[in-house]
Amino acid sequence: MEGTDSIRTIKGVGEKSEILFAKVGVTNVEELLSYYPREYDIFTKIQPISSVREGETVVLEGSFGDRPRMANARGLKIISAKFQDASGKLQVSWFNMPYLMRSLKMGKRYILRGRIVQKNGMLQMAQPKMLTEQDYANLLGKLQPVYPLTAGLTNHAVTKAVAQALGEYDFGTDFLPLEIRKKYGLLLRKKAVRQLHFPDSKEAYGEARRRIVFEEFFLFSLALHYMKMHKKANPSRYILLPGERTEGLLNVLPFKLTEGQRKAWEQVRQDLASGTVMNRLIQGDVGSGKTVIALLALLCAVESGHQGAMMVPTEVLAVQHYEEFQKYLEPLGIRVALLTGSMSAGAKREVKAEIARGEVDIVLGTHALIWEDVAFRDLALVVTDEQHRFGVRQREHFSEKGNHPHILVMSATPIPRTLAIILYGDLDVSVMEGLPAERLPIKNCAVETSYRPQAYRFMQRQVGEGHQVYIICPMVEESENTEAENVLDYAASLREVMPPSVRIAHLHGKMRPAQKNQIMEDFAAGEIDILVSTTVIEVGINVPNATVMMIENAERFGLAQLHQLRGRVGRGKAQSYCIFMAGNPSKETMERLRVIEGSNDGFYVARKDLELRGPGDLFGIRQSGDLFFQLADIYQDARELQEANEAACAFTREEISLLCKKYRGLRMKLEEYTGEPLL
Ligand code: ADP
Ligand code: MG
Repeated sequence: MEGTDSIRTIKGVGEKSEILFAKVGVTNVEELLSYYPREYDIFTKIQPISSVREGETVVLEGSFGDRPRMANARGLKIISAKFQDASGKLQVSWFNMPYLMRSLKMGKRYILRGRIVQKNGMLQMAQPKMLTEQDYANLLGKLQPVYPLTAGLTNHAVTKAVAQALGEYDFGTDFLPLEIRKKYGLLLRKKAVRQLHFPDSKEAYGEARRRIVFEEFFLFSLALHYMKMHKKANPSRYILLPGERTEGLLNVLPFKLTEGQRKAWEQVRQDLASGTVMNRLIQGDVGSGKTVIALLALLCAVESGHQGAMMVPTEVLAVQHYEEFQKYLEPLGIRVALLTGSMSAGAKREVKAEIARGEVDIVLGTHALIWEDVAFRDLALVVTDEQHRFGVRQREHFSEKGNHPHILVMSATPIPRTLAIILYGDLDVSVMEGLPAERLPIKNCAVETSYRPQAYRFMQRQVGEGHQVYIICPMVEESENTEAENVLDYAASLREVMPPSVRIAHLHGKMRPAQKNQIMEDFAAGEIDILVSTTVIEVGINVPNATVMMIENAERFGLAQLHQLRGRVGRGKAQSYCIFMAGNPSKETMERLRVIEGSNDGFYVARKDLELRGPGDLFGIRQSGDLFFQLADIYQDARELQEANEAACAFTREEISLLCKKYRGLRMKLEEYTGEPLL
C-alpha cells in the first residue's frame, strides 16, 4: 500500500465512505494516516459513585435498586433507572433502547461506563455502555482514539480504516536523517504514527507526538531557510508615497493614533517608499488597532496610482473590514470591492473583471482571492490580516500575484520575540505596543457554574443600558455535528430565562457563510442583544458596543485562545467584562483561569500558561488555533521549535547534502511541502 493510493484500496471503505472521508479531507492512505485523533478516550478505573463530577466519563460498578422506567420525550423513548453502590446513587438513562426494560436485572452487578451530565440540577449518567469483567480488564488504562468526524462518518469506521492502513502501509526509509533522530531522541516515523493513533500509554503518546511535532517544525524551518537563501532584498518597482488623502484620512479618523500605531505606520511608510520590496509583520495585541495601519498603507498604494489587496481568514471579517473601509474611502473617491467565496459566480466574475481592468482600487477578501484566478491590473501592496491563520506557503503564493508587491502581515499571536524570529524568519517585525488610551481595562472574573444566574442578571442589566453580549458556548465532545445543536439548545434555554425583549441569536461554524455574515451584520448594527456562538467569532471581529463576554467551559480552552476570544470585548469606551465559567472547577483549572483573570496582557498570559504546565500536559488542547501546523503548537512545543530550527540551520549550512542519495526522502518531502522543486 502506498501513500498516494486511494482510500478505496482499504478494505471496508466503499463508495459511500469514500465520499464521507473526502468531506474531512481524506482521499488517500497518507492523508488517512495523518488524520490524527482529536483527543483520546482514557479508560479509567472503577470509581465510587459519590466521587463523580459533571463532564467526566467514568466507570462505575453497582446494581439497579428499582425497576427502570420509560418515558417519551421529543419522540424518543427514554429509559431511566437508579444505579447504586456502597457510596451512593445515581440516575442512569438510555435513549431508544426499550428492550432494556426487560433485560435489566435487579440486584445483579453491572459495570457501566458513560459520561456524567447535569439534568435538572442533578448529576446523571447518560447512555452508558455495559461492560463485562473481561471487557473491563482488557480496556483498563488504554487510550482510544477520538477522531474529528462528519455526519455519517463514525469513529468506529475511521478507527478501523486507520488500523487497516497501518497494517499494510509501507513506511519505507524515514525521511528524517538518522543523525537528527539520534541527536534529538526521536522515534521512527513508522512507530510514531502508529502510537499517535493507538497509544499504548500516555508516555508513548508523548514520545510519538514529539516526533511528529519536531518533523512539522523541521520541515517548516527548512523551507523557510531555503526561501531566505534564495531571496535577496528585491528592488521594488513600486515607490509608494502618501499624498494629501492619506494625510487627510488621519484628520478624519475619530481618534488620534497611539504611540505604537504611529511608530508602526512610520516604519511601514518608510518601507513603502524605500524602493525595496517590503516584507513586514506587525505584531500587536488584540484591540491594539492594527486595521488602521492597513488602511493607511492601502490608501498610500492607491494614491501612488496602484492597486492594493487585503486578505482575511473569514468571510465575516472580510465583510466587516469592507464596510469599515468603504466608510472612510468612498468619500475620497476610492473604489473598494469585496470578493468572497459565497458571492454568486456572476458577482465574482464581475468583480474580477473590474479588478483586471483596474476599475477597483482596493480589494478585500478571503482565500478566494488566492485560490481563484484573480489577475490584478497593477497590484502594489498585499496585506494579510491575522497572519497566524495562514501557512507559509499561502503567504508566498499571495506575494506571487502581480509584480512582487509589497507585503504587510498582521498578527495578534502573542509570541516571544525569539519564536517570532523563527516563525517569521523571512519578515521584518514591528511590535506595536499599547492600547488606545481611552480604553478601560477589561474586568475579568473566573467563576463556577453556580454563578450563572447572577451572570445572566448582569447581562440583562448591560443589555438594558444598550450594550451587547457574547456567550461562547461549551465546546462539544461527542462529535462535531452536535456543535450546532449545542448552540441552538443553549440559545433556546437562554430565551426561557431572559425577558422576551432581549433579542438573542446564535452563530456556529456549520452555518452557511451568507447566514453567518447576516447575523454578524445584525449584531454589529445593534439588532441583536446577546449572541450565543462557538469560537467562530474568535478572529478579528470588532463590535465596540459589545461589553460582556461569557465563556462557558473555559477550562477546555488554552489560555492564549481565551485571550483572543476575550479580545472581542473592551474595544470601545465603555467598561467591558469577561466571565470565565469553569464547568469543572478543579484546583488546576481555577489556577489557570486565575492567570487570565488577573491580566489583560496577551504576552504575559501566554508565558504564564507555559510555566504552569509541563510540556504535553494539556492533552490534546491546541493553544494557539494556529494553522501553520497540524499537530505542533508554538506555545506548548516551544522547545521542539527551537530544536528543530537548530537542526534545520545546521542542515542548511551544508546545502550540498540534500543532493546526497541518503537524503532523497527528505528532499522529496521538502519539495512536497513547499510545492516546488528545490535544487
Ligand atoms: P486589532 O488590532 O485587534 O485588529 P482593530 O484595528 O480592529 O484592532 O481596532 C479595534 C478598535 O479600536 C476599532 O474600533 C478601532 O476603530 C479602534 N481604534 C483603533 N485605533 C484607535 C485609537 N488610536 N484610538 C481609539 N480607538 C482606536
Ligand atoms: Mg484585527
